[in-house]
Amino acid sequence: MEFEMVGSGRGRRLRIRGELPRGFHGEQQGDCWLCPLDAINATALRRELPWTAPRPLGLGKSIGCGDRLGLATPGHVRAVRKGDMAGVFAQQSIREMERCSRSAQDVIDDAAWGVLLMDYREGYGSDADHVKQIADIDACIEAGFTGFTLDPNEHVDNAAQDDDATVLQAKFESLAPDDLEATPDDLRRLYLAGAAASPLDEETLLRASGKYSRAIIHVKNLARHIEGRFGSDPFDLEVSVDETDTPTSPAEHWFIAAELQRHSVRVDGLAPRFIGDFEKGVDYIGDLQRFEDDFAAHARIAREMGPYKLSIHTGSDKFRIYPIIHRHAGELVHLKTAGTSWLEALRVIAMRDAAFFREILALARERFETDRATYHISGRLERVPVDPPDDALPALFEHFDTRQALHVTFGSQLDRFRDRLYAFLHAHEDDYQAVLETHFDRHIAPFPCATGRD
Ligand SMILES: [Zn+2]
Repeated sequence: MEFEMVGSGRGRRLRIRGELPRGFHGEQQGDCWLCPLDAINATALRRELPWTAPRPLGLGKSIGCGDRLGLATPGHVRAVRKGDMAGVFAQQSIREMERCSRSAQDVIDDAAWGVLLMDYREGYGSDADHVKQIADIDACIEAGFTGFTLDPNEHVDNAAQDDDATVLQAKFESLAPDDLEATPDDLRRLYLAGAAASPLDEETLLRASGKYSRAIIHVKNLARHIEGRFGSDPFDLEVSVDETDTPTSPAEHWFIAAELQRHSVRVDGLAPRFIGDFEKGVDYIGDLQRFEDDFAAHARIAREMGPYKLSIHTGSDKFRIYPIIHRHAGELVHLKTAGTSWLEALRVIAMRDAAFFREILALARERFETDRATYHISGRLERVPVDPPDDALPALFEHFDTRQALHVTFGSQLDRFRDRLYAFLHAHEDDYQAVLETHFDRHIAPFPCATGRD
């Protein structure tokens, strides 16, 4: 049996030579079958060629390649092939799936067709990103996800950052022993008098617990559910607390890791909120020396309390800090990017169809103030150019405020331009692959093979 992708863009088909294997459907043409790239054939494909299905990656450095449109995997493969990071090609958060009108199954299927097209057999990961509840986890497991990022943010008590001692004390005593699988006094004994390695004193314990204990219990419950579904099969598990109001201190990180350990939740990755500003689509904002000191402390904890990877969310375009991350985390890093491949798609439009891009830019201006609501960004509408000349359009992709406006308005852009966007990108596949390759090269090259390092 021989599988081959033929044609291009929307007209692309899977050609199977010989007898049509079970599960596929298509049109017979001579001694071949031409099969549409739909969900039924994608399911059969993953059974027939297991390397087209995502698999758990475990430890070892990796890059998350979120793909809002489902067209970016070939470009991602081109870059990942040359570097030393495993690729997570099927990655999207539930929130983004809703905004893009994609299902968990679409995310998995699009990645599978992409790796088949590129004949990429080295294996790739998947990430049901920022999942918050069991129903979402189940939908993602049905679709074939083998990696999950649990987001307990709704159970983080941000107020504990500033609560006074009496309130903290009351919060601590009110933790339910059944959920905690311990009493508050047990925690005191464990972390204040017991563990020699504990960096916590009474106040940091109470503050860390006030902020994170309910979140950790939620994570434990979600993790148990996944374990129940996977049985003895492996899966990747990440826990993210990157969307809290304040940075995660190393002491808080240590507490989270210790509590996950106590609950026997084994994680492959953890995403603290690091100090400084991680904004969508732009470089790191903050002092590099302070970041390095803080990051080094987190990296030490991830090594000693796991090991597990430090996951860098909103990780695209943070070129200033990649060398620092590489230096301290070594192999234990996951760089997560979500919207940057969407921006690269728009770059191709700016290069090839100025009139279309102007419409997109106009809509970005129109929707920026509304669509930015759920994002942590500082771009300003009045700095997004109103009517730049054609030859200035590609340079807008180096412009802070414009990048953010284009980045966060993707839901509105898809609502208005969906068919045109897809038609355009199908017609310019090579361009899209090429800009993605260039862009991801810049993200992967700072994380070279770790020969001779710890
Ligand atoms: Zn995140």
